[in-house]
Amino acid sequence: MTATTAPTIPPLVTPATNAVAAPTCRFCHAPLRHTFVDLGMSPLCETFLTADQLDSAESFYPLHVRVCEACLLVQLRTYVAPAEIFTEYAYFSSYSDSWVRHAAKYTEMIIERLSLDTGSQVVELASNDGYLLQHFVKRRIPVLGIEPAANVALAALEKGIPTRTSFFGADVARELVVEGRAADLIIANNVLAHVPDINDFVAGIAALLAPEGVFTGEFPHLLRLIEGHQFDTIYHEHFSYLSFLTIERIFAAHGLTLFDVDELPTHGGSLRIYARHTGAPSRAITARIAELHRAEAAAQLHDLATYADFAEQVAETKRGLLEFLIDARREGKTVAGYGAPGKGNTLLNYCGIRTDLLDYTVDRNPYKHGRFLPGTHIPVFAPERLAETKPDYILILPWNLRKEIMEQLAYTRAWGAQFVIPIPEVQIFP
Ligand SMILES: [Zn+2]
Repeated sequence: MTATTAPTIPPLVTPATNAVAAPTCRFCHAPLRHTFVDLGMSPLCETFLTADQLDSAESFYPLHVRVCEACLLVQLRTYVAPAEIFTEYAYFSSYSDSWVRHAAKYTEMIIERLSLDTGSQVVELASNDGYLLQHFVKRRIPVLGIEPAANVALAALEKGIPTRTSFFGADVARELVVEGRAADLIIANNVLAHVPDINDFVAGIAALLAPEGVFTGEFPHLLRLIEGHQFDTIYHEHFSYLSFLTIERIFAAHGLTLFDVDELPTHGGSLRIYARHTGAPSRAITARIAELHRAEAAAQLHDLATYADFAEQVAETKRGLLEFLIDARREGKTVAGYGAPGKGNTLLNYCGIRTDLLDYTVDRNPYKHGRFLPGTHIPVFAPERLAETKPDYILILPWNLRKEIMEQLAYTRAWGAQFVIPIPEVQIFP
């Protein structure tokens, strides 16, 4: 959920010439000459505005995603330093019931598979509020969390979960090794994409991992992003968009071999990779590795042309959504949103959807009530607003939770409301 690498980033503007430095690949350093998709300028997706901020200027940053022709890593430049985004973070993993269940299931599986016990050491990178490590603590397995957001790390400490407030990288790994720690299991869920210096981060994993240790990490799968036109999962906190092909290459460069992989339904389709030291072949490479290679080859992910096609698919998704909204409004229908997630802000800003097309949105998080979405200034209300105004259409912004949300909103069918899913193209559910 949060990033854990050193927050030092090279300046985009070189002071001597005032010119913007040419972008290079964060993994292999080749020049970046190919656009994956350019979503224009967008504000940071978690900066909700108060009413008195609406008359002030807002900061917008480019969302120009490129693909490296040498290693095919899809990436966004570090336009905003992680220290600005991640040191005081509003997201607490324990607030999501489905995440806590996902974590419990994973813990049982991995303890069994690796035969972890009271003599083992588990380390989680970006451990958030301890939502995952708490399950190991219950089984008396020694743990250490590394979490850069001080407020979130404090919540973990209060639950009795040893946590160090820090960004993770090779330096922190070496410090831990000097202290005598070697990890039998390192976990990094939804953090590889958030790391500006992915080489330093993976080098740290290799340094901290015990000779026979195992790393597992989850991240959204680029293949699903492309197939599902999930361009709204692109935002400034996500620096890398990973295929199996590129992550395998990055790990190999640091002496780590991927020996197994699971496909997960989370975040619109994720991968969970399993890695070990390349020089420790006791864990055999499973057949699922070859299966995933075949799936990515069938989708032409090794071919630069596939990446070049994505931008036009995204533009067509935008045109389709605008067409629907314009027609609905011309017919005198009302449209409200459901949810105020980060992905919603990318979608609305890129499509230029403001209150002329979407009256308001609702969210369950009380922090957001009475505030306005960044960039588009669409107001956010409590969910009760839906029953008060009875909109004809409800645009579901967190589409990855559509099933759960449509069940929660079953009562809106009483006045004939219909649900709208924006991607991969507009779909209407009565
Ligand atoms: Zn590259």
